[in-house]
Amino acid sequence: MIDGSSLTVEMEEEESPATAIAPREPPKIQRLEESVVNRIAAGEVIQRPVSAVKELVENSLDADSSSISVVVKDGGLKLIQVSDDGHGIRRDDLPILCERHTTSKLTKYEDLFSLSSMGFRGEALASMTYVAHVTVTTITKGQIHGYRVSYRDGVMENEPKACAAVKGTQIMVENLFYNMTARRKTLQNSADDYGKIVDLLSRMAIHHNNVSFSCRKHGAVKADVHSAVSPSRLDSIRSVYGVSVAKNLMKVEVSSCDPSGCTFDMEGFISNSNYVAKKTILVLFINDRLVECSALKRAIEIVYAATLPKASKPFVYMSIILPREHVDINIHPTKKEVSLLNQEIIIEMIQSEVEVKLRNANDTRTFQEQKVEYIQSTLTSPRSDSPVSQKLSGQKTQKVPVNKMVRTDSSDPAGRLHAFLQPKPHNLPDKVSSLSVVRSSVRQRRNPKETADLSSVQELIAGVDSCCHPGLLETVRNCTYVGMADDVFALVQYNTHLYLANVVNLSKELMYQQTLRRFAHFNAIQLSDPAPLSELILLALKEEDLDPETDKNDDLKERIAEMNTELLKEKAEMLEEYFSVYIDSNGNLSQLPVILDQYTPDMDRVPEFLLCLGNDVEWEDEKSCFQGVSAAIGNFYAMHPPLLPNPSGDCIQFYTKRGESSQEKSDLEGNVEMEDNLDKDLLSDAENAWAQREWSIQHVLFPSMRLFLKPPASMASNGTFVKVASLEKLYKIFERC
Ligand code: ADP
Ligand code: MG
Repeated sequence: MIDGSSLTVEMEEEESPATAIAPREPPKIQRLEESVVNRIAAGEVIQRPVSAVKELVENSLDADSSSISVVVKDGGLKLIQVSDDGHGIRRDDLPILCERHTTSKLTKYEDLFSLSSMGFRGEALASMTYVAHVTVTTITKGQIHGYRVSYRDGVMENEPKACAAVKGTQIMVENLFYNMTARRKTLQNSADDYGKIVDLLSRMAIHHNNVSFSCRKHGAVKADVHSAVSPSRLDSIRSVYGVSVAKNLMKVEVSSCDPSGCTFDMEGFISNSNYVAKKTILVLFINDRLVECSALKRAIEIVYAATLPKASKPFVYMSIILPREHVDINIHPTKKEVSLLNQEIIIEMIQSEVEVKLRNANDTRTFQEQKVEYIQSTLTSPRSDSPVSQKLSGQKTQKVPVNKMVRTDSSDPAGRLHAFLQPKPHNLPDKVSSLSVVRSSVRQRRNPKETADLSSVQELIAGVDSCCHPGLLETVRNCTYVGMADDVFALVQYNTHLYLANVVNLSKELMYQQTLRRFAHFNAIQLSDPAPLSELILLALKEEDLDPETDKNDDLKERIAEMNTELLKEKAEMLEEYFSVYIDSNGNLSQLPVILDQYTPDMDRVPEFLLCLGNDVEWEDEKSCFQGVSAAIGNFYAMHPPLLPNPSGDCIQFYTKRGESSQEKSDLEGNVEMEDNLDKDLLSDAENAWAQREWSIQHVLFPSMRLFLKPPASMASNGTFVKVASLEKLYKIFERC
């Protein structure tokens, strides 16, 4: 064995024995060849074929074209050809056209602030010549012939040749990434690039409705996107996305001209309740630039999920115009995700306008027109290889900017921790796994009856409205979720006050109110295995029993369970019709309602729910019955702490393996042994359950409460809201959290 001193000696010796590692020479720093630098930079600007198409089409738009057509071969890898009828490129400019930083759109820095073109960096064409073969054919006004010239690595390959040409410019990009083998291989394997190009042009076409667009595969006769110039945006949407989309759209508009800084105009179209789709389409233009904004997308999805009883995702087209100085113009060309000044306020205003539109439309819609569709929910576990699931799960893996992950903000409706969302554990431990009451799909439900005339439900809703506490309403609408203080209380900030808010009470009330509002219009959660009522109720009775060791009451419990099962079987039709709780003739529970989309209740609580339905509901009186069932559902769906104790609290002991004791281990090894002794599966189930709950609290509960909860006056005094601090200084700290 080598001890410390001999090691030092050995290392100091010049001729070290074979055991010592020879120190590595510092590598030599070299200047990269310019062509390598350019190729790396080009690979960043042009990441995939669709990025090249976007740049080319934007150039055509900047050239005042009224018609743009795109031809694509082999997903864009073999050929991308964009032809326009714009102003063309002057002969004299052709030699430097594809050099880096050559542009006709900007001459001095100040021009940036008055710029209305899409490009200005002069990087796109140059980049393309470093990773592909580019040929330009162009003619300017008044010329009798045009010119054709090819480029490679930023320079012309030959002098421009005179040629016949039609008005405008045609740019051909061939063999994209021919010199980037790895990129080419990855792209060759992914078949959906043409789809991405079609999607891009569809979006462009509906916004630029004064330009006609077409896009087709090389050799194909029929175009996959074909839009004619039209003064009406709705017509453009119809020609690109089809009649079924266009006929189900409503116009939305919001403007704000707040001198303190929040100034914007938004106009667009949003789908109504008759529209059915599995994936949200948000076509968003900010100052005429096609962008993505995941915060806005989630904000809109939440309103749809909560307002419409169908599990459909919306179609939304929005064009937002902001003062130029409010958008970061220096935005990188490939950066599609934007952030804006006053983003939160803008999103909130748009969100509430969308909500108002949907609610108003909801009042007048006709359910008879709806088709019965089977829709899979994002919360289920679709087979991971299906394209649908890939698309759905794509949302979860979306990158969230680091600076957004930890911030708390009342007007950010959802989703920032979404990136960390863990799938709900399917193999719950012990007793529950035998029930395997896990939802397998969400089925959209026909709305069999118009229920607006059920006056008892109307009375219950009116009761909720009349009990609402205005001060608390204000707080709930505008508070900022800070974090969980313990298992039950969340810390929330409202103005300069800090409150502890009981999430169990709040979620229970919210679920109750939503049950009333969605009465008879629920989507359904299908349970993968129907669960036998009598067993579940028996389980609940045993759990209630304070002294489970004595089984002398077992007979009695079984009888109670049987009676309750029979009772619920009798009420099955009503439960299904109005609450989407389905109990089959064999006394199995196979379906539950969706109360808030994006949220599945804790299935460990099914037994308690059924017992509560059997025991606590007053079935004879209509109003009390509806109230009782809604309250039972509210309690079931509430965000209780998971039954498994919180592993990050003091309860880690709970997860040591049974039958083994770490007591005997020596102090020194105690920690290591403790780790080995943990029941890892159970622990990870518990961690998942707690993480999932916290995620739901922040991203489902608080945003939904902001929209829908009418907090009853009782909450002001029953400990649901407790003010813990009211210091201006404290506020400042939390603002920066
Ligand atoms: P940028 O668009 O940022 O200026 P690009 O590399 O995309 O940079 O284009 C360089 C220049 O080439 C543009 O500024 C424009 O003058 C010219 N150009 C490119 N495409 C077209 C086109 N389709 N019609 C007319 N001019 C074009
Ligand atoms: Mg450009």
